[in-house]
Amino acid sequence: MTRVNATATRVLVLNSGSSSVKYQLLDMADGSRLASGNVERVGEGEVADHTEALKRVAAELDARDLGLHSPRLAAIGHRVVHGGTRFTEPVLVTDEVLAEVEKLVPLAPLHNPANLTGIRVARALRPDLPQVAVFDTAFHATIPEAAARYAIDTATADRFGVRRYGFHGTSHAYVSRETARLLGAEPADVNVIVLHLGNGASASAVRGGVCVDTSMGLTPLEGLVMGTRSGDLDPAVVLLLARVGGMSADEIDTLLNKRSGLLGLCGDNDMREIGRRMAEQDPAARLAFDVYVHRLRKYVGAYTAVLGRVDAVAFTAGVGENSPAVRAAALADLTALGIEVDAVRNAVRGSAARLISAETSRVAVAVVPTDEELEIASQTYALVRA
Ligand code: ADP
Repeated sequence: MTRVNATATRVLVLNSGSSSVKYQLLDMADGSRLASGNVERVGEGEVADHTEALKRVAAELDARDLGLHSPRLAAIGHRVVHGGTRFTEPVLVTDEVLAEVEKLVPLAPLHNPANLTGIRVARALRPDLPQVAVFDTAFHATIPEAAARYAIDTATADRFGVRRYGFHGTSHAYVSRETARLLGAEPADVNVIVLHLGNGASASAVRGGVCVDTSMGLTPLEGLVMGTRSGDLDPAVVLLLARVGGMSADEIDTLLNKRSGLLGLCGDNDMREIGRRMAEQDPAARLAFDVYVHRLRKYVGAYTAVLGRVDAVAFTAGVGENSPAVRAAALADLTALGIEVDAVRNAVRGSAARLISAETSRVAVAVVPTDEELEIASQTYALVRA
């Protein structure tokens, strides 16, 4: 690895998904965003594969004089979905790291291969540049065994790596810290329940800056009701679908990940559309909303018990940042838990972190926009500067 020169303050963040490559170029000297983009439908014709997609990203940056070969680029930070129990912090990419990430593919068969391809192509384009892998699971590595273990036969669980890992970690880390900042407190001094409600959705309980429980598990399928994922389910549902329904593992996988959640309940996975349909008294949309909110409330209650003392509940991601209806319903009538949302504050739209709790609320309720790219860039930069 070459030494990072002092004027190299830029970090390129790459998120190579199964069918898209998203990128952002940030300058860590002032936190400014210099470029961002998304190459979509990778592998579906025009953009043949990830190599081609990465070349497009490089060309888009070159055209703006921000190319991969700029001496001001300090590093590339890659989002990697599954770090297993092996990776609990960001790491500098080496051949050994790539081999270890490869071993985790069975735990994340859709995501990790795409993440790996992104890293390999980027390394080929700039072999001398430090590349950092930032794992979606890492922030949850601190979850105690009591919360991480499923109550199944230990030997079987250990043989297959069956335990709860959690995801959306960069978002939960960033939002829990920003919530402390909004309260004018140190992260070490506050307990926060973070509700990341995007297309995928997860909750986490963060005690003094340290994650102690989260709703996603072995895979991102567990926990909250999501756009197209079921979330929590009696495992016997899977057995019934296989035995009685004759469905294969792949068919059940697709059903639970892509055709369930809000979409499965009402045919729409976008909360805006569900809101419109509810305004027209559509019963299926109403039911989908109610199931979504009921699950969310259960997790708020559960994590209140896990934390013992809650200082703040923070909403983030597409639904969390933009849906006053979901926020109001999720926390309605929780005065007994010290939680009171202020209707007027909740209705105000905005892009900044803000409080929506009533003056009398013992627990602060906040809307805190997430910024996973900034978090990945910060962690990447911290590592190469260390
Ligand atoms: P992803 O998990 O794909 O990153 P986002 O965090 O961008 O997703 O969230 C996407 C979801 O946010 C959409 O599916 C939509 O339901 C929801 N959303 C976006 N804007 C609004 C809005 N104004 N009101 C309600 N929901 C919204």
